[in-house]
Order: sequence, then structure tokens, then C-alpha cells
Amino acid sequence: MSDPQASGGPTRRAAAVGEGTRAVRAGLPEAVKNEPTLPGPVFAAHFHLPGEVGGPYTYGRDTNPTWTLLEAAISELEAPGQKGVETVVFASGMAAISAVLLSQTRAGDTVVLPDDGYQTLPLLSSQLREYGIEVRTAPTRGDAQSSILSGSRLLWIESPSNPGLDVCDIRRLVATAHAGGTLVAVDNTLATPLGQRPLELGADFSVASGTKGLTGHGDLLLGYVTCRDPQLTAKVRQWRKIVGAICGPMEAWLAHRSLATLQLRTLRQWDNALALARTLTDREEVGGVRYPGLPRDLAHEVAAGQMRGFGGVVSFTLPDRAHADRFLSALSLVEDATSFGGVRSTAERRGRWGGDAVPEGFIRFSAGCEDTDDLVADVLNALDSAED
Ligand code: PLP
Repeated sequence: MSDPQASGGPTRRAAAVGEGTRAVRAGLPEAVKNEPTLPGPVFAAHFHLPGEVGGPYTYGRDTNPTWTLLEAAISELEAPGQKGVETVVFASGMAAISAVLLSQTRAGDTVVLPDDGYQTLPLLSSQLREYGIEVRTAPTRGDAQSSILSGSRLLWIESPSNPGLDVCDIRRLVATAHAGGTLVAVDNTLATPLGQRPLELGADFSVASGTKGLTGHGDLLLGYVTCRDPQLTAKVRQWRKIVGAICGPMEAWLAHRSLATLQLRTLRQWDNALALARTLTDREEVGGVRYPGLPRDLAHEVAAGQMRGFGGVVSFTLPDRAHADRFLSALSLVEDATSFGGVRSTAERRGRWGGDAVPEGFIRFSAGCEDTDDLVADVLNALDSAED
């Protein structure tokens, strides 16, 4: 079995290399003659452990060599060149989000959440309230969360927000939060570490669903927490051990393999999203086009000050539910499916879930890696068909 720890651990690469170089090499172990570049998944519930308990790998709920490599890779991408940063991978994005909120707070604490974040957050809020934690909420737009921070333990930011694509000024919110002793976590799912690096903007935690753009093939669920402070990280790691929300070695390995194409995938997705946003703005029946990369978008100025790329998701509104359904069924290159960030474009009428405050005709569109002209043509064709 390849042991990344025994061979000196995953190599940390210099911060100076470009994004693409970093992505293809992130988390790879030192080259060992006759060993593969990326060792295969290690399937083990337990590891040989004669005598005293010790060493890096003892039991499969606590550690796994395949996680070790993936965690190192994500740390390199989230915080290139930063020392002491660690990542903990989880079974899903929600497992990672819950791990931060539930391991860092206790009864009597206050947390500040966005009121326009991912639609499972309200369920988590109810759970926090049942545990005696006060939950305050405010919109992402206009940094509204900054006015309700007083005395809080943790601020949760989702920027850009899903599905509304609002953006807040992360540096500004971090400065206000830290001045009052409040920790800050940023959900970085939509941007991916190539689009935004929350720890460089001052946040304590960058948390994401790796199910989406990070791994990008729509074939696995994964989550992660990247943190700069060893004590905070230890609590997150312990939470994973207690709850057992671990990702399988196969998922971890597939995720790591996918990172090699992260830059290629995201650059194409960002280009496609911008082209679509521009096309949609020109259509009379389409309202409320949102894409932080559009210069006329409400969020553009703030986004440009903190994002390195604006993501692959565009949102817009068609006149009503029936119009939106006609549009979705007329698309031929775009799957009607939830989730986002995959190599194949997906779109959905978000109102069908009932959890987001959006109009019935609201569409969340995730641009994939198709040729831009093909994707734009497919969308224009579906818009034309949906008119009658
Ligand atoms: N955060 C955001 C912004 C999301 O969009 C999602 C899922 O859509 C999650 C977290 C949860 O991720 P997962 O489905 O991997 O649990």
C-alpha cells in the first residue's frame, strides 16, 4: 500500500506556479519508482496495529491515506503557500457545513446565517435552535449580515449565494466580525477555490460542497472544510469522528483525479456562463438575469474585488411557470436536473422545490463544458420554442 505519510507526505508546491499547474499536481505524493503518480483508493476499515496505538492510520473512520492526499490537494488550492492550513473532507457538503456550525457552537451562542443561502440551511437553523443556539439571518446583498453580528460566535457567508447569485464584501464582513470576536466561515461551493479564496480574504473557514464544480462530473457527493487554525480544525476533525460523516475512499480518489482538470473545466464553464448571460440579457421575455461576471450586474463591482472568476451559474426569470417548463423541455444539450458545476450543462426551475424565495419562472442554469456556440444556440432555440 502506498503510504503518503511514510514517503514524506504529499508534496507542498510553491505558491508561485500558475493555477493550471497547481491543479494538475495538487496533493500528489513524492514520486516513488514503480508507484503510480496518484496512488489508487485505499479500501480499509482498519489497518494493522500491533501493540501500542500509534501512527497515522489506525481505523477507517478516523483517517485514510486517500483522504490525506485529497485533503492536501484542496489545501493547496484553497490557500496556496499558506502554512498551517488544513482540510478535512466529508461525505457531502451538508456534512461539512454541519460540522463547522455544530462543532464551533454551543447552547447560548449566536450564529448569523444568510437568509438567501442554500435551501437546506433553514433545516440546519431549526436544529441549531433546538440545541439552544440563537440564529439570526439577513440577506447576502448589501453586506446586511454586518448589522446583526453583535455578540455572535460565528458568521456564515454564502457568496455568491445560491440560487440568487448575490455577493457580499467578504473582507469587509470579516473585519467587522473579527473586531467583535466572531469567527467567519464562507461557503465557497459556487466559486470553487479557483474562483475565490476565502482564507486569503480573511475568513477562518472555507467550506464547500465538492459535489459541484470542484469535482465536476455529477457522479459523487463530497464536502470539505479548510481552516487556518489548528485548534479550530481539531474540533472539525473530531466532529467527523463522532458523527462518522466520512467520504468513501473511492469518492475521495475520484475527486482527487478530477482536480487535475479543475482549471480546464472551470475556465470553459465561466466563459459559457458569461456568453449565456449576455445572450439572455438581449431577450425581451427574459427578466432578472444575474451573473456576477456581467459588468452591469448588481454584484459585479464587489465580486470583481474578491473573485478570480465568476462561476458557471447564471440565473434568470421567464414570464411564468409554464413558460419556464416549455423552455426546459425544449433544451437538447442541457439536462433538467438539480445541482450545478458539472461538465454537462444543467438547468432547473428552482421554484419546484419550494424552498427558495424565487418567482415561479426562475431558472438556475449551470453552464457546462460544451462548445460555447452550441450551448448558446441550444438556449436560443429553446427560448424561441417556448414562446408559443
Ligand atoms: N452549499 C451550497 C451552496 C450548495 O448549493 C449545496 C448543494 O446544492 C450544498 C452546500 C450542499 O452540498 P451537498 O449536496 O454536497 O451536501
